Amino acid sequence: MERLIDKFGRPITDLRIAITDRCNYKCVYCRTGNEGAQYADLPIADYLRIARVFATLGIEKVRITGGEPLLRKGVVGFVEDLSDLRTLDGAPLDLAITTNGHLLAELAQSLKDAGLRRVTVSMDAVEPERFARITRVSNGFEAVLAGIRTARRIGLDPVKVNCVLLRGFNDDQIVEFGRFARDEDVVVRFIEFMPLEEDRVWSPEIVVTLAEVLERIRAFRPLVEIPHTRSETARRYTFDDGVGEIGIIAPVSQPFCGHCSRVRVTSDGKIRTCLFSLFDHDLHAVMRRGGSDDDMAEYIQSVVAQKEARHHIGEPGFEKPSRSMVHIGG
Ligand code: SAM
Repeated sequence: MERLIDKFGRPITDLRIAITDRCNYKCVYCRTGNEGAQYADLPIADYLRIARVFATLGIEKVRITGGEPLLRKGVVGFVEDLSDLRTLDGAPLDLAITTNGHLLAELAQSLKDAGLRRVTVSMDAVEPERFARITRVSNGFEAVLAGIRTARRIGLDPVKVNCVLLRGFNDDQIVEFGRFARDEDVVVRFIEFMPLEEDRVWSPEIVVTLAEVLERIRAFRPLVEIPHTRSETARRYTFDDGVGEIGIIAPVSQPFCGHCSRVRVTSDGKIRTCLFSLFDHDLHAVMRRGGSDDDMAEYIQSVVAQKEARHHIGEPGFEKPSRSMVHIGG
């Protein structure tokens, strides 16, 4: 089987699978707050088969996401089965999860024992009240903090904390997050807000850019840039005393589509070749028709070949993608 490569010559090695469309948070910049899950969940065995077929096509890294993946029954067993898969070079897959962290404290050890290597926790404020306002869930902050600390303690390494910044809303937390990275020994990554919300909140003015984050953090303490590889999405920095790491992911002000290595599968088994795709590709339909693994692989090859060159955020003809972030997974 040939390795996945798109028509622009980009090798596709990074698969993200959403294992549920449900989420227990209703973050104000992500969801309307009125709607629940909109798409089906598949049996875990179907996600495993999808991952297995992707691994035969050169996928090396699998990130489990949602909705909120820790809500999905069977998530630990899924990680365990994924850890038995091998890349084309015979290595274990690099297994990661993206979670809001609410249930992480109770699941972290089982996930690690099952073969999970790393965890990314989404957290948009380090102040409990603000956190509750953003997530529309009271007392979530304590649960997430406990999840982060447990993950650190048991050696899921690194623990990354992703923060989406919105001007006038949580950008006053930037320096506090710098302190948090140092105090908690986690990698904090600021992410530019993208037009992927259920509501229409996005405007260029609301995006807090990489340049601005750097300026604000540098006023708190000098930063030293960590050399980054071409394919890395984050620009990485440590503080002048070497304590704490922060990263900035800038898809809006400094797009990195030219070295995108990602493909996504939604909870209902559709392939998305870009976060901003205008339509999905129904891989699960191939499975429902009784297609073999080879049929699935052939379909995946043909879909990946069509991957978009880049997104068009902020350009005059920008069209809203066919799904919002919570129904894709990030
Ligand atoms: N529930 C999991 C979590 O909280 O990480 C996985 C799904 S969540 C949709 C994945 C990530 O997307 C979160 O870090 C969230 O902050 C981020 N996100 C949601 N909407 C976004 C947007 N419009 N722009 C950038 N990131 C966004």
